[in-house]
Amino acid sequence: MAGSAKAAIQRPRGTQDVLPGAVYVWEYVENAIREVCRRYHYLEVRTPIFEHTELFERTTGETTDIVEKQMYTFRDRGGRSLTLRPEGTAPVVRAYLEVPERPLLPWKVFYLGPMFRHERPQAGRFRQFVQFGVEAIGADDPALDGEVIALADDLFARLGLEGLSVHLNSIGCPRCRPSYREALLSYFRGREGLCADCRRRLEVNPLRVLDCKEASCRALAEEAPRPTDFLCPECREHFDGVQAFLRHTGIPFVLAPTLVRGLDYYTRTVFEIMHGALGAQNTVCAGGRYDGLVEQLGGDPTPGVGFAAGLERLITTLELEGRLPPPPTEVQVMVAYAGNAARPVALDILYRLRRSGWQADIDYLGRSLRAQMKQASRLGAPLVAMVGEDEVASGEVTVRDMRTGEQVRVPLEELEVTLRRIAPTT
Ligand code: ATP
Ligand code: MG
Repeated sequence: MAGSAKAAIQRPRGTQDVLPGAVYVWEYVENAIREVCRRYHYLEVRTPIFEHTELFERTTGETTDIVEKQMYTFRDRGGRSLTLRPEGTAPVVRAYLEVPERPLLPWKVFYLGPMFRHERPQAGRFRQFVQFGVEAIGADDPALDGEVIALADDLFARLGLEGLSVHLNSIGCPRCRPSYREALLSYFRGREGLCADCRRRLEVNPLRVLDCKEASCRALAEEAPRPTDFLCPECREHFDGVQAFLRHTGIPFVLAPTLVRGLDYYTRTVFEIMHGALGAQNTVCAGGRYDGLVEQLGGDPTPGVGFAAGLERLITTLELEGRLPPPPTEVQVMVAYAGNAARPVALDILYRLRRSGWQADIDYLGRSLRAQMKQASRLGAPLVAMVGEDEVASGEVTVRDMRTGEQVRVPLEELEVTLRRIAPTT
């Protein structure tokens, strides 16, 4: 605060305040998400914001950026290692395994909430960010891979977005992965130019190199062997099935032969939905199949598929495409008064309006009537209900249409009818 002797405390790096005037954009996106998920029969699940650290160590992969350097890990008072969730899939699968009665399959759920990763803040990259994700656990039908992509596509279309494209690949299964891994290893071993991280990760997980953001690694990745050339017959058939579904449903996609994902649990289908105008952080939505994950967390072998989308990047995309909705009316009726005798009457009017559903407010700073009118117009209130000594004496109220400046004086009982007549859409 200006003038205070103490230094102001700022929000932590990589976090954001969504201020009151901007919250409606988030609500708009959240409502669209909830609506689309209902239509596709995905129900909401809410898991804790922190989990046992092992959950992420065991699933995300020891050589991933997330586990190597991005987790917010701390010990609680009992000495247990806990981690603020960096992603939503492992927690959802953990929750699935804790459902008391085996759920009907596929278990189709979505989540919407904050994730935490200690990475370098930059455009489109935060330390606390919000992800929306869906997971469908219990079926390996390629039409289910198609369904999650269709759901994302539907959501983006509903939000009016046009510049997004689906990039699709298959990275095979534990049966075909080893031969691909060998091919990748010998390709990269014979070449200069890998970044330090990738040189270290290469032997443990050469697929990581394909996902590296360094320019030199990306250039090498372009020419690297492609996982689709190594798919076993079952994975080939599955990948063909996903593509056939997307063509049949009319969802455009491009094949992305070197696309892999930033987490280790993916098998077969992987995809990203990107926006051309977003710059370096251009992936809005990313996902794929994770047929080994449930088993890895101690369940019976159970396939699964899903995606996660970053809401900050989605909102940036809405801004870029000029698709933000207009801000909603904050105050429908401002109640104004002149003189102390009118104040209790004005308060009565205010509470009567609020109780019957109007968004109504009043001045609390002792402003003059003139200043109250100015305040109403700055707030964008379409209507003002005014009382002065005259109105108090005659049991009336003056209603002003702020858009035209016209005023009518009506008996108090006719206030609401009059408000509705003047501004029926607010
Ligand atoms: P990137 O390649 O951008 O680092 P990732 O592979 O780490 O992404 P996922 O873990 O698959 O991404 O997350 C899915 C989506 O969540 C991303 O496509 C993006 O929209 C969003 N996302 C991931 N990390 C962040 C972040 N730090 N800040 C904002 N959004 C993020
Ligand atoms: Mg990342």
